[in-house]
Amino acid sequence: NRGSISYSGALFAESFHRLLSTQTGGKLQDKVALITGAASGIGKATATKFINNGAKVIIADIHQQLGEETARELGSNATFITCDVTEESHISNAVDFAISKYKQLDIMYNNAGIACKSPLSIVDLDMALFDKVMDINVRGVVAGIKHAARVMIPRGSGSILCTASVTGVMGGIAQHTYSISKFAVVGVVKSLAAELCRHGIRVNCISPFAIPTPFALGEMSQIFPHVDRQRHVDIIHNAGVLKGVNCEPNDIANAALFLASDNAKYVSGHNMVVDGGFTSFKNLHF
Ligand code: NAD
Repeated sequence: NRGSISYSGALFAESFHRLLSTQTGGKLQDKVALITGAASGIGKATATKFINNGAKVIIADIHQQLGEETARELGSNATFITCDVTEESHISNAVDFAISKYKQLDIMYNNAGIACKSPLSIVDLDMALFDKVMDINVRGVVAGIKHAARVMIPRGSGSILCTASVTGVMGGIAQHTYSISKFAVVGVVKSLAAELCRHGIRVNCISPFAIPTPFALGEMSQIFPHVDRQRHVDIIHNAGVLKGVNCEPNDIANAALFLASDNAKYVSGHNMVVDGGFTSFKNLHF
């Protein structure tokens, strides 16, 4: 399948880059990053990118086996810790683990998130399902920022990232439950960037569209129920936005690297949309 082929290609390129960056240093040299949902997809690509740029990365994920495999694959600068972002104590432990292992936390990337199949009409909304999505996609992000801030404020520096979505930029792209949760992520980022700027801490988010990951190829077909399965796979694999561009998790990792690094030292409260232009000229016919 084209998604996994291009992803493997990206990982090979990253391994090669890692070889080079050990000699040349990187944009995140000696930084420590904690990434939630890093066992897979965007989080894994970002962990790879950060390590290749000199960082030590804590991979925090609910999926223990996948997380351990990812950490092994990424080598000695990656460490896995089990973390369900709906449990505040797990997030707190993961942050404390970073401090006890490396004495610092420079970057917190609240990336874990889920989609869901919610009814097309608000009238039929199952509030228990709504709560579950908010618990992971919003409360998990808020708790991540809370505990990162706890250790970053005394140092007077830090970069906090979150994964939002194009569905948090425009209504009507996806089902409302997921969309509402991602609008909330953008709101959380802007609100907390305003508070944390006085402590020298930057807070930003990234809004991807149609990145081929297990999430996109599986669960996203549920939030776009009116798109038939083959059309959905075609959209994800071709993105169909910028002609000739095969989007991949690494495209989000590149944005994360910029926002996490000192190259973005004057960027805070920003939602970086990485969508091949989708939200500017919505030209897909679902
Ligand atoms: P993915 O399924 O490849 O990765 C998601 C990871 O999050 C998995 O490793 C999973 O185990 C982990 N996770 C799920 N629930 C968790 C929990 N409660 N606690 C800790 N970890 C948990 O998907 P992805 O596409 O890489 O998604 C990452 C983020 O990107 C999500 O927030 C998603 O909403 C967002 N996003 C993705 C796309 C896309 O096109 N792929 C588009 C917009 C937004």
